[in-house]
Amino acid sequence: MIPFVDLKREYRLIERKIWQVFDRVLRRQHFILGEEGVAFERSFSGYLGVRYAIGVNSGSDALYLAFKALGVGEGDEVITVSHTFISTVDAITRNGAIPVFVDIDPQTYTIDVTKIEEKLTKKTKAILPIHLYGQPADMGTIRMIAKRHKLKVVEDACQAHGALWGGKRVGSLGDIAAFSFYPPKNLGGYGDGGMMVTNNISLATSARILRNYGQKDKYLSNTRGVNSRLDEIQAAVLLVKLKYLDQWNAMRRKHAALYENLLCDIDGLELPHEAPHTKSVYHLYVVRSRYRDLLREYLLQHGVETGIHYPVPAHLQPAYKNLGYRKGSLPITEQYAHEIISLPIYPELSEREIRYVSKLIHRFFSSHKRR
Ligand SMILES: *Cc1c(COP(=O)(O)O)cnc(C)c1O
Repeated sequence: MIPFVDLKREYRLIERKIWQVFDRVLRRQHFILGEEGVAFERSFSGYLGVRYAIGVNSGSDALYLAFKALGVGEGDEVITVSHTFISTVDAITRNGAIPVFVDIDPQTYTIDVTKIEEKLTKKTKAILPIHLYGQPADMGTIRMIAKRHKLKVVEDACQAHGALWGGKRVGSLGDIAAFSFYPPKNLGGYGDGGMMVTNNISLATSARILRNYGQKDKYLSNTRGVNSRLDEIQAAVLLVKLKYLDQWNAMRRKHAALYENLLCDIDGLELPHEAPHTKSVYHLYVVRSRYRDLLREYLLQHGVETGIHYPVPAHLQPAYKNLGYRKGSLPITEQYAHEIISLPIYPELSEREIRYVSKLIHRFFSSHKRR
């Protein structure tokens, strides 16, 4: 049996270090906004090459508060994609703003930058690119468009800790960015967690106030904020795990290269394309086939779990019906939702397991063609 994710394998490697930091935090009995959080914010911003990092409760809150810090709200429009995790869209609508969906690039599955400008209106305030599956969006063009039209750029880097665009880490390329530390992410805690990062001091200051009830000084709220903080236990775990991030990402890239090598000659199976000047961190390894559902069933019958990220695009979700999109609004997004399948790719996966998954896929396609 090859599970789609298996965090137990990672835990076995770091168990002793984790118990050391648990001990440290538990003895201190200081759980909210303490020294672990400060140390992790400093380490993570240093790793990314940004000035400020602000820990929060989740990636969803990081996105939500990023827009709030920017002052994007009621009636403002935000350009983004529908091919993403729903939380991206929720962060916009929770602020009263309106997501305006652009289709994805057929090769990279990130925002199709050639279709952004036709969607701009007087109400457009920001662009929200998602570095989906660990693949950086085309930040060069996005930044150029943003500059030309005076728009803000918020990066959704929730799947892309450590990914590179033009030699720089994603998260350092827009006005503000959001990361998630949901356990199976490339850098994950032992519960929910997230972070905003920015080089802009006034955004950082606002973000810091917003996550703590809107208080700058204790019990005085000049702004309406929320309670969304990264707790000390999560920060301590993440401090340990950050040291392994590059090594783990390198393993993911190695696995992706092996899959590529083993699967590239299959007709009717589309493999991931890495865009030029980028380095993906393969949060997911997503392939595409017209026979997706059959393939998925076949793999499961042979003990291999897979995922679909994501089966229903945001613009077709019942909860977002009021946005006014219909089937056919975003052709590539809709087609791909029926064809994508995510194969296991965590760092601890063995070469033997990848060869086994690949052999099954070969077998599936050779028998399927004959039918
Ligand atoms: C995980 C994720 C989020 C939300 O992060 P949470 O920590 O689960 O709230 C947002 N956007 C994308 C693309 C994600 O993958």
